[in-house]
Amino acid sequence: MEAAAGERAEPGNLAGVRHIILVLSGKGGVGKSTISTELALALRHQGKKVGILDVDLCGPSIPHMLRAQGKAVHQCDNGWVPVFVDQEQSISLMSVGFLLENPDEAVVWRGPKKHGTSDEHMATMEALRPYRPLGALVVTTPQAVSIGDVRRELTFCKKTGLQVIGVIENMSGFTCPHCAECTNVFSSGSGEELARLAGVPFLGSVPLDSQLTRSLEEGRDFIQEFPKSTAYSALT
Ligand code: ADP
Repeated sequence: MEAAAGERAEPGNLAGVRHIILVLSGKGGVGKSTISTELALALRHQGKKVGILDVDLCGPSIPHMLRAQGKAVHQCDNGWVPVFVDQEQSISLMSVGFLLENPDEAVVWRGPKKHGTSDEHMATMEALRPYRPLGALVVTTPQAVSIGDVRRELTFCKKTGLQVIGVIENMSGFTCPHCAECTNVFSSGSGEELARLAGVPFLGSVPLDSQLTRSLEEGRDFIQEFPKSTAYSALT
């Protein structure tokens, strides 16, 4: 679960944040961190200020995607102070990854720090509820197994009263790096079908794109580098 917030973030205090969007899926590895990162970069290109709260306990990867690994966070009276990832100070980030002494260290938290497996969701929701989140972007991949998990995630949103802004189908087809043709590796259209059945908006599909993978691995700005790619058009 990632939460992206837009405009006027203050350290440790979300009262000045205009919009809070949760990026959810119910399954690991489907692209929550990718969508959150690219969304933040796209919003920056539109002149917005964005804060990302990366609460992925099992594999916090956003610091790497935004070239912010190893940055030091410190605490103030209101809690942890996020770090800026760029010189213009347009994107700030707080990640569980900053709290690990060794990047290869697994997060083994119990008790007050970790309330239990899917409790990250509940804990994050409870913490954000007073700030009235705008809603959730729910990320899925075309495979049926992911769709099942995502259906449960949509039920979670309904039960907790969190509005679903829409469903995004990620890794939807493969964009050939040579001819840019998009091939459906898995079945396609299941994200759209899921959204239709759940009665929530379908926002679009992002293809598997090797340029995007490389940008993420090297912490580069894909949105700036590949403005003509299919993934760029889908993400912006
Ligand atoms: P999650 O946050 O849901 O666990 P990630 O965003 O970390 O998933 O994505 C998992 C892996 O897949 C990452 O290595 C990322 O670079 C890659 N990836 C995700 N979406 C795409 C895409 N559309 N095209 C290419 N690679 C992608």
